[in-house]
Amino acid sequence: MALHTTRTFQTFLKLAFAGMLGASLVAGDAGAEDKQPSPGSAKAIFGSVSLPSQGAAQPYGFYAKGCMSGAVALPIDGPTWQTMRLSRNRRWGNPAMISLLERLSRDAAKYDGWPGLLVGDISQPRGGPMFNGHASHQIGLDADIWLTPMPAHPLSVEERETLPFTTMLQKNAFLTINPNVWTESRARLLMRAASYPQVERIFVNPAIKKKMCDTWTGDRTNLGKLRPIYGHDSHFHIRIKCPPGATACKPQAPVSADDGCGKSLAWWFTKEPWAPPKPPKPGTKPVKPREVMVSDLPNACSAVLAAPSVDSIQAATFGGAADAPAVAPMAVMPAAASDEGLPAIGPVPDDKPSVE
Ligand SMILES: [Zn+2]
Repeated sequence: MALHTTRTFQTFLKLAFAGMLGASLVAGDAGAEDKQPSPGSAKAIFGSVSLPSQGAAQPYGFYAKGCMSGAVALPIDGPTWQTMRLSRNRRWGNPAMISLLERLSRDAAKYDGWPGLLVGDISQPRGGPMFNGHASHQIGLDADIWLTPMPAHPLSVEERETLPFTTMLQKNAFLTINPNVWTESRARLLMRAASYPQVERIFVNPAIKKKMCDTWTGDRTNLGKLRPIYGHDSHFHIRIKCPPGATACKPQAPVSADDGCGKSLAWWFTKEPWAPPKPPKPGTKPVKPREVMVSDLPNACSAVLAAPSVDSIQAATFGGAADAPAVAPMAVMPAAASDEGLPAIGPVPDDKPSVE
């Protein structure tokens, strides 16, 4: 970081704090832009469906532009997990995602000193865009996990709505882990999640990624799966690959083989990612982004919306801990062409910030 004067550095810090605030609005999963979508938009339509479609589980499209059929629900409670924010009705996913979450919850409790998972948003019953909180989570292959351990008692419905998030960051410092909150068990939980072959990416705050780079002394093979992104300082986000046979699922380019602790991480500690957007040139009208319509999604998504529902939530709830099927390792998916249009070299990270 080449900063020449104290004043420049002060400006940088100001920008950084502004950036941190803005970032949590962009990529956090709580309370972000709670304004209602327009009637007829994909957000309004997918957000109003309360049950999944019958039939085989299929993701259609991309993590940030798609939908799903045949979703199953993670049970509200299991021996090693509790689901949060039940009013949002977002504990739906592809069976591969749901069984992975159950497996992670068991393994973390058994091996990592983590008593259980608090599970945040997965997807809506038929996937699709959400009116708040996420760019992705649309095809049942993304899930948010709190960095708060599951309490010993079952949380009430009210507590599940209101329990506040706990940031891992220091309040008045730039991208710095709070040593009074961070624990080795959290590091182990992240690396446990990264260890499963079907997990392709785990999104964390850049400060968490740096902490892992600086301190993780175990096997670093899967450290590259931890991807720095805005927000994600009180929860992390697990993304799995397109399951085998999911031919309508658009894969994301695999992460590079290195540990991700070099240049791409250093970029987050410069001012560039935190700079406010440039003001429009005088005389030009600001372009308001058009709302996503169902017709913008893969064609199959209209059929997914029109398909008959399962009979009840119970009928589509995943089997629970005892009879959860083992998660078989998945074949490595072929590399997709870069869909983000970002340069392949330079300080820009692989994950475009707007795609959570
Ligand atoms: Zn997420």
